[in-house]
Amino acid sequence: MAANTLPPGPHYRTGIGYDVHQFAEGRKCILGGVEIPSDVGLLGHSDADVLCHAIADALLGTVGLPDIGHFFPPSDPTIEGISSLEILRKVAEELAARDAVIVNIDSTLIAEKPKVLPHVDAMKEKIGEVLGLPAERIGIKATTNEKMGFVGRSEGIAAMASASVLG
Ligand SMILES: [Zn+2]
Repeated sequence: MAANTLPPGPHYRTGIGYDVHQFAEGRKCILGGVEIPSDVGLLGHSDADVLCHAIADALLGTVGLPDIGHFFPPSDPTIEGISSLEILRKVAEELAARDAVIVNIDSTLIAEKPKVLPHVDAMKEKIGEVLGLPAERIGIKATTNEKMGFVGRSEGIAAMASASVLG
């Protein structure tokens, strides 16, 4: 067998995603499909759900697809304010069309504020609903940036995610 030639599948495939959105007055703070009580929200063309965006990119990466900007270009006025759960729904369709079954997702929110841990179960429920995944196959963690850098100065929220599929 030639180097890097795989036996017939399915195979485990992994992807990573990273996203960041800046805080803005007068916007909602929606993370993982859940509106979080917060004195500031997140700026973006969609609902700016940084967690869903990182997860979407991780999932798209598992099958070698381009990032969500390709499917939901910021220049498209018809998707202004779209719920990022709809973005995840579209990503799930793209994976299903390629016979890729989502195995699990893991993610970390990096933010000085707001407090997100009390909302993690609700986020898992929302994300699990659109992706068809039980909560135990979705990881959502949160950390601060120890007051360093743009996240540390509370200028916004960053999110990282990984995903694996069988396909
Ligand atoms: Zn984003």
